[in-house]
Amino acid sequence: MKTVTKHYIDGAFVESHGREVMDIINPSNGKVIARVTLADEEDARRAIAAAKRAFVSFRQTTKKERANLLRRLHEVVAARVDDLTAAMVEEYGGVVRFAAPIVQAGANAFLATEKALQELPLARSWNKTTVTYEPVGVAGLITPWNANALFLCVKLASAVAAGCTVVIKPSELSSLQTQVWLDCLHEARLPQGLYNVVTGRGDVVGAELVRNPDVAKISFTGSVGVGKTIMRDGAATMKRVTLELGGKSPNILLDDAVLEKAIPTALGIAFLNSGQACAAGTRLLVPKSRLDAVKRAIVDAMPAFLVGYPADRKTAVGPMVTQKQYERVQSYIRKGIAEGAEVLVGGEGHPPGLEAGHFVKPTVFVNVTNDMTIAQEEIFGPVLCVISYETEEDAIRIANDTSFGLHAFVSGTDVQRARRVASQILAGRVAINGMLDDQQAPFGGFKYSGVGREFGTFGIEAFLEPRAILE
Ligand code: NAD
Repeated sequence: MKTVTKHYIDGAFVESHGREVMDIINPSNGKVIARVTLADEEDARRAIAAAKRAFVSFRQTTKKERANLLRRLHEVVAARVDDLTAAMVEEYGGVVRFAAPIVQAGANAFLATEKALQELPLARSWNKTTVTYEPVGVAGLITPWNANALFLCVKLASAVAAGCTVVIKPSELSSLQTQVWLDCLHEARLPQGLYNVVTGRGDVVGAELVRNPDVAKISFTGSVGVGKTIMRDGAATMKRVTLELGGKSPNILLDDAVLEKAIPTALGIAFLNSGQACAAGTRLLVPKSRLDAVKRAIVDAMPAFLVGYPADRKTAVGPMVTQKQYERVQSYIRKGIAEGAEVLVGGEGHPPGLEAGHFVKPTVFVNVTNDMTIAQEEIFGPVLCVISYETEEDAIRIANDTSFGLHAFVSGTDVQRARRVASQILAGRVAINGMLDDQQAPFGGFKYSGVGREFGTFGIEAFLEPRAILE
């Protein structure tokens, strides 16, 4: 049995002041694999004080010095990609074929941010006016459980590039992954107090970061509900906020899409990270005239999406992170059936032979209308809604008829037409023909999907304030 009793404050691993102990459960078999001592408000305040002390000198570092730190961070994380992946598989149930590239993307984020930093002018001047871009101050970075290493790396990279010091509050469900991550970061020998990590409950440690006047900025990834709380409670101390929240991403299948290719891709996008992905394309919009062919193509493609143990390379869909998440997915499947949608594949309950873990059946609903609960709310599990449309305009209207706007997908052969459709979608990212990534492109959402953007120069700017000096 592993135990985690320390936080990382002022450049050292220190015993927790908080005394609450939480079990970490392996989602594949329901067994307790670790006990974690959670931080309390006092741990958070100590971490904030360390970051505040470190900010005095760190804010004055040059671009070159920050770039060197980013390269060091890349080296130490890249050296431990396998260990981080193994922790993600065991603790979170992330399937290895997803977890490994996600962890690698986390390591790469430091280099991508270094490139963005080189390209971003931190000073501009005209006549006798000089504008410099200053780090906003101590930043609180709050992350969810579904791609821990990636979020920690992306947020830390942007903050360091901007010259901010940070207090990180990772999800308490990611304690083992965070421990491995901290072991690698410690190797980088960064300036003391530059980053501090306190794992604790959101309503305890997270809330302290949000209300503490010494924290200037919160960069948060998580649910809409908590995002609203942060925006509201942060207003008391005029916090700057970046909020990366949920999604209900549409995937518009145009009538010239080649189904043999587009349908397996659509299922991969829907079941990404076992469906526990903010960017998952969970509404597949298909032309009414091709609905029957699409249904057949889905049934044909499903055998490739094996549910099973996450360490197995053949597995496409692993367990849900917790029993609570399992119940949540089940309740949406029941709601879909009750509202009149038809289960094409999957359905309620565990897949046979996988009753001991939090496994669900990857499920595809057809006969879904966009006003149904399963088409409007984020399920955060492997559940795809197939919705039919009459015309291109109709498809665009349905795609935008959502309170979210994080991601969207368009699939079709005529790329000009796909671009035209993409340009009318209200979402932070629209990918044409597949799940694509570009670490220099902004990531974030319209509407309830959030406030602000991460990645590249956009992510660094979120930690900067312009200051003009006039002579
Ligand atoms: P969550 O909102 O429950 O928790 C996220 C983090 O916030 C955790 O660290 C939690 O401890 C903390 N928290 C909880 N209450 C808090 C409070 N009152 N004050 C401050 N912090 C608090 O989300 P989750 O269940 O961990 O993650 C799933 C959600 O995250 C989904 O809605 C998903 O869409 C979203 N998400 C968004 C993105 C994105 O980039 N847009 C990426 C991944 C996940």
